[in-house]
Amino acid sequence: MRMFVSILIVLVSACVQGSEGTEAEAEEAGQMVDVFSFETGEIQPVERLELSEEEWREKLTAEQYRIIREKKTERSFSGQYVDHNERGLYRCAACGNDLFLSDKKYDSGCGWPSFFQPIDSQNVAMTPDFSLGMRRVELQCARCSAHLGHVFPDGPKPTGQRYCVNSASLAFDPVK
Ligand SMILES: [Zn+2]
Repeated sequence: MRMFVSILIVLVSACVQGSEGTEAEAEEAGQMVDVFSFETGEIQPVERLELSEEEWREKLTAEQYRIIREKKTERSFSGQYVDHNERGLYRCAACGNDLFLSDKKYDSGCGWPSFFQPIDSQNVAMTPDFSLGMRRVELQCARCSAHLGHVFPDGPKPTGQRYCVNSASLAFDPVK
């Protein structure tokens, strides 16, 4: 009986370890991410978009690649959405993830499209950026890690934040 119990324990622990291993692997692969969908109005899981650099080069224009993958910045006042005031939804140019609504866009005068709030905090990721000898907060797409721009604490109320985004990182869908 004691031996049977021992075997049972070994078997059970093997099963537990097995399932833990699988979950850990799935998590590590990071294939799903929860983001807000403008279309459904709900937070829902979507597949992360991970491509090789070669695939990104094919998918994006040269200017988009330079900004989205190499984290460069377009010239101020050069982007197509700086003075764009149409009503609608700004999405990630690389993966289509919903990012900003036009009613959260404002004229900051800085030369890049500026928003005081993303469509949902789940849809973007913010990381410290110490490049170019500055202390900044980098803004990325939560689904594909596209470089979008930077966040500065000089925005208008109610958030006081300025999400300063490259036009090249954005795609626009008009909303009636
Ligand atoms: Zn994206």
